[in-house]
Amino acid sequence: MLAFRTAVFKKVVLWQSVCSLTHTEICSMPCEVQPRFLVLYGSQKGQAQSIAEGIVEEAQDHGLVAELSCLNQTEKFNLEKENAPVVFIVSTTGDGEPPDNALQFVKHMKMKTLSTDHYKHLRYTLLALGDTNYANFCNCGKTIERRLQELGAEQFYKTGYADDGVGLEVVVDPWLEGVWKAIKEALSKMASHRIALLKEDAGSSSKETPDSYTPDVQLNLLSLSDQQDCHIVRASADTDSKYATADSSPASATQTAISDLSCDPTAGIPVSVPQTVATANASISALDTQTEYAGDPQAASLSRSLPPLSESSLNVPALPPPYLDVSLQDVDTVEQNIGRLNNESLIEVPIHRAVQLTRGESVKTAVLLELDISAHPEMFFEPGDSFDVFCPNRATEVEAMLHRLGLQDKRNHHVHVSLKKETKKKGAQVPSYIPQNISLLYLFTWCLEIRSVPKKAFLRALVEHTGDSVQRRRLQELCSKQGAADYNLHVRDLSLSVLELLTVFPSCSPPLRLLIEHLPKLQPRPYSAASSRLKHPGKLHFVFNVVEFPACYGRPAGKRGLCTGWLFDLINRGLVFPGKAECSDSLALPTIHVSLRSNCSFRPPSDSSVPFIMIGPGTGVAPFIGFLQQREKERQEKPEAVFGETWLFFGCRHRDRDYLFREELEGFLCSGVLNHLKVCFSRDEPEQEEEQVTASAARPRYVQHILLRNGRYVTDILLKQSGYLYVCGDAKNMAKDVNDTLLEIIKAELRVDQLEAMKTLAGLREEKRYLQDIWG
Ligand code: FAD
Repeated sequence: MLAFRTAVFKKVVLWQSVCSLTHTEICSMPCEVQPRFLVLYGSQKGQAQSIAEGIVEEAQDHGLVAELSCLNQTEKFNLEKENAPVVFIVSTTGDGEPPDNALQFVKHMKMKTLSTDHYKHLRYTLLALGDTNYANFCNCGKTIERRLQELGAEQFYKTGYADDGVGLEVVVDPWLEGVWKAIKEALSKMASHRIALLKEDAGSSSKETPDSYTPDVQLNLLSLSDQQDCHIVRASADTDSKYATADSSPASATQTAISDLSCDPTAGIPVSVPQTVATANASISALDTQTEYAGDPQAASLSRSLPPLSESSLNVPALPPPYLDVSLQDVDTVEQNIGRLNNESLIEVPIHRAVQLTRGESVKTAVLLELDISAHPEMFFEPGDSFDVFCPNRATEVEAMLHRLGLQDKRNHHVHVSLKKETKKKGAQVPSYIPQNISLLYLFTWCLEIRSVPKKAFLRALVEHTGDSVQRRRLQELCSKQGAADYNLHVRDLSLSVLELLTVFPSCSPPLRLLIEHLPKLQPRPYSAASSRLKHPGKLHFVFNVVEFPACYGRPAGKRGLCTGWLFDLINRGLVFPGKAECSDSLALPTIHVSLRSNCSFRPPSDSSVPFIMIGPGTGVAPFIGFLQQREKERQEKPEAVFGETWLFFGCRHRDRDYLFREELEGFLCSGVLNHLKVCFSRDEPEQEEEQVTASAARPRYVQHILLRNGRYVTDILLKQSGYLYVCGDAKNMAKDVNDTLLEIIKAELRVDQLEAMKTLAGLREEKRYLQDIWG
C-alpha cells in the first residue's frame, strides 16, 4: 500500500512540475510524465480517422500524450476503467448507421443490461461528422453521446456536429481550437479529484504515511496553459524578408511569420528556414503570369488572394508527419491488369447493349447499359440492390501526373512502399490498397484517386515542397483557418484535383511519397440495378448520367466524371438510340469489372398487398424500373394474388428530352402494374390546359411539388394502410426537399405541429417504411 502511494505521489509531483516548465521543456519531456488522454474514432471514409490522428499528433505540442484507437479495437482500450479524458470522433454512414469500424462498439454500448452508472467515472467530449443532405444527420455520434449520458458519463466539452453538406471545417476548426483548453481543464479537474481522494485516504491513515510524501495540492495544480501551444503559429504576410530565430519561448513561437516557418517533422516543433518573402500584393502578379488566367484579373482566384486575407496572419494546421518510405526498382515484367486489386468478388462482364436515353441540348446525357451476367450465377441481385463498377484513372491524367512528378521514364518501375522507421504518425500503416510489386503506372491507374480534392493537410504538406515564396504563402492561406472561404470557393466547390492544383503552383514539386500518403484509395462507383432478373434473365441493367465538370481557373477545359466519362468513352461506338435500328458495332462492346453490393432494406414490400410510393426523379427512377418489372412478372405468375397500389413520382427537365423510360412507364400504367404515374418537367412551359388549372397555384416543377398536391393519398397510404415510401436519386437537394415536403404534408393532413410531424416521420424510418437510396 505504501509503495503504491509513494509512486502516485511521485507522479503528482511530476505533474505539478509540468506547469512551471517552458514550452521546449514540455515538448521534450519523456512521455511517462506527460498527462495522457484517449482518442477514439469510428470512420468510414477516413475523415474522422484523419481528424483523430491530427489530434494525437498535435497533443505533444500541448505537452500531452494522446492514445489513439479505432472504436472496434477494444483490446487497445478499456472504457470501463478509463481515468483520463476521452475524445470521440465519429462519422455516420448510409442511412444513419455507424461506420463499419464502430459497429461492435455501438452494439455493446446499447446493451440494456448496462447500469446507469456504468460510465460514471468517464469524462468525454465528442465530435460527430455527418451530412445534412442525408437522413439522420450525425446519428452515430448522437447515439454514442446519448448512451454515454444514459450510462453516467460526464461531458467536459461541448459536442461538435460537423456537416459535410456545407463543409466540415465550419464546425471542426473552431471545435478543435477549443478542445485543448477543455482537455487540460478536464485533466486538471480529474487530477485534483484523485488527489483529494488520496488526501482523504492519507488523512485517514496518517500513521502509515510519512509527512514528506503529502503533496501540496494547492500549488500549481496542472494548469497547463494555452500559451504552450506550439503548432499554431501566427503569420504576417506583410513581413519582409525573415530569418526567424528558432526561439522556443511560447510568445515568440506565436508571433513568428508563418511564411518563413516549417515544422521539423522529427521534432514536430516549428523551426525557421531562411527565405525571402516579398509582400503578398507585389508578388501576386508574378504568380499570375505563370498561369493562364481567364477570369477577372482583379478578382481573387486560386493563385491570387486579396486583402484582408493577403495581409492577414494565418493559423495553419500542423505539418502531417511523413510515414512512408517509397522506392522505385527497374524490372523486366510489367503487370497492368486490374486483377491485382485482389478483390475476390470482382467479376468481369461484357457490356451487351448501350442505349442513350436522352436526346437534345441542355439535359444531362443518360445512358442505359445492359451487362451480360449469364456466366455469373453469383451475381444474384434483387431489385433495390446496387453494384460497384471499377474504373481506372484516365490515361492522359496518369501520364500528366507522371510528367508533373518527373517520373515519366520510370512508369514501369516497381514501387516499394514501406513504413518509415520512427515515424511520428500514430497508428501509421502502409495503405492496404497498394499491392506489392506493382508498377508506378499501375499505382496511378488503379490504386490512387488522383482526382480527389486535396484536403487541407495535403496543402499544408505541399507548402514544404514549394520553392516560390508567393506560391507558398497562397498554399498556406488555402489551408489556414483564415483562408477557409477561399479554400471552399477555389478548391472544394470546384472539385479541383491535385493535378489541376499543381498546374497553378508550378514551383511545387512534391515527392512520390507525399502523393501516396495523401491521395485516397481509388473507389469503385456504385450504380443501382435498373432491371429485374425475372424479366431479363442473365442480364443486369443500370442507368447513369454523364457527370460534367465545367472549365474553371486551374481547369482550362471542362471534364467528365471519372467513371461516367470512362464508361461513355467505352461504349461510344456501340451506343444506340431508342427507336433507331441497333448498330452492328454493339457486338464490339468491351467488358467491365463489377462487384455486387446488396441492400437488404431497399426492397419492395415482402407482402405484395401493401401499397407503396416511389419517388425517383432523373436516374433516381432506376431501382423502381426493377421494382415494377418484378411486379409485372409476379402479377403474371400469380394472377389470383392481391397487389397493393403503386405510385411513382418522376421529374426531369423536358418531356421530350430526358423523360427516362417513358414508354416502359406508360406501359406499366396501361397494364395496371403502376396505378399512379405523376410526372413534372422543370424546364418546360406549362401546356394550355395545365396553365389554366395552375393559374392560382404555383406550377409544379419538382417532384416535391407534385407530392404535395397528393398529400392526402400519401398520408393515407403511409399512416392508414401501413404502406411504404421509397426515395432514390440526388442527395444534395431532392431528398431534403422531399423530406421537408413530407413534414408539411403530415402537418397539414394530421393537423399536428412540426415536432409531431418529425416524430411521425422518424417512426416511419424506424419501421423501415420510409427508405432512401440517395447519392451525390
Ligand atoms: P466523379 O469523377 O467521381 O465525380 C463525382 C463528383 O461530381 C461528386 O463528388 C459530385 O460532387 C459531382 N457530381 C455532379 N453531378 C453528379 C451526379 N449526377 N451524380 C454524382 N455526382 C455528381 N449514379 C447514377 O448515375 N445512376 C445510379 O443508378 C446511381 N446509383 C448509385 C447508387 C448508390 C448506392 C450510390 C452511393 C451512388 C449511385 N450513383 C448513381 C452515383 C455514382 O456512384 C457516381 O457517383 C456517379 O456516377 C459519378 O461518378 P463519376 O466517377 O463519373 O464522377
